[in-house]
Amino acid sequence: MCCIIPTGLALPHNYNIALHNWELSINVRLPLKMESREKYSKDTYYVLGQTISHEEDLLHEFKGHRNISIHDIPSHALASAGAKERTRNAVSVSIGGMLNSGHGGTIYLGVADNGQVKGMTLTRYQKDHIEVSLSWTLGRYTPPVPESRYSVIFVPVISNKNQTLPQKIDEFVDPKRRSQLHHVAQSNYCWCDTDAKARKDIGKLPMAYVVEIHVHPWEPHRFKVSTDPLDTLSSFLPPLHLTEASACFFRQSCRQLRLCLEDVRRLLVHRVQEHYTLKVEALQNEYKALQCLAQKHSIKILPPVHHNTDDRGTKR
Ligand SMILES: [Zn+2]
Repeated sequence: MCCIIPTGLALPHNYNIALHNWELSINVRLPLKMESREKYSKDTYYVLGQTISHEEDLLHEFKGHRNISIHDIPSHALASAGAKERTRNAVSVSIGGMLNSGHGGTIYLGVADNGQVKGMTLTRYQKDHIEVSLSWTLGRYTPPVPESRYSVIFVPVISNKNQTLPQKIDEFVDPKRRSQLHHVAQSNYCWCDTDAKARKDIGKLPMAYVVEIHVHPWEPHRFKVSTDPLDTLSSFLPPLHLTEASACFFRQSCRQLRLCLEDVRRLLVHRVQEHYTLKVEALQNEYKALQCLAQKHSIKILPPVHHNTDDRGTKR
């Protein structure tokens, strides 16, 4: 059965269970333009068992799994009659929180909660799967997340410091197989996982990686902003995204807060107030500097003219 999940779907409170009962089979192929995304440097690597120097905080999150969307989470990790809450959060929740905070951040897949590098053995096909799954999931956010706001880097993991990283990763890749569709938004194994298992069974262990998902901070000058002259807010406020499960998350410290509509309203008011307070302060400082300059040159500056305005900002 093939089905598409509508964007902005209103989900029931126990949505994670309800979604899991759906028969989902969504097949996605890696677009050619994504193939150049992997950045691999022979000098960049992690050592198995090392502890990452920074802890989980506003900008860093560790994950031991690669369940990108809520649909990828296996049933044993979901809330059920026997368990009060989920034992695993989708990567998508952290991405949503980092996007909405405006600060961005990095999510490390293959690193335990205590910061110890475990690595994930991944074939080229499985790396494609992660990219496809990310693109599929973030494309279902409301609004969809543009590719310019995130990037993925597969950083190799070596077993000890004395091991030299090969110049080229020795792995057979069949271009025909690589163009096969990947099954995303489901917790069952994809063909790429079955292929990886078959390789392991004959002793061909793929390279281990830490997958770094970089969520770029909101910098209005870097990203495309609205060209609508009436849409003055979107040019400086980070856009708020709802995840593929129609939930709004906000990253605070090392965790995600789920925002309700009232929280979103308060957040927007706070951001607008903060923006204009800073702008007014900057203008006041500029005015003082001009006054000093005028005094120095004995030039008289007229005091600023205050216009009376009604509630709608119209001059009376
Ligand atoms: Zn796959």
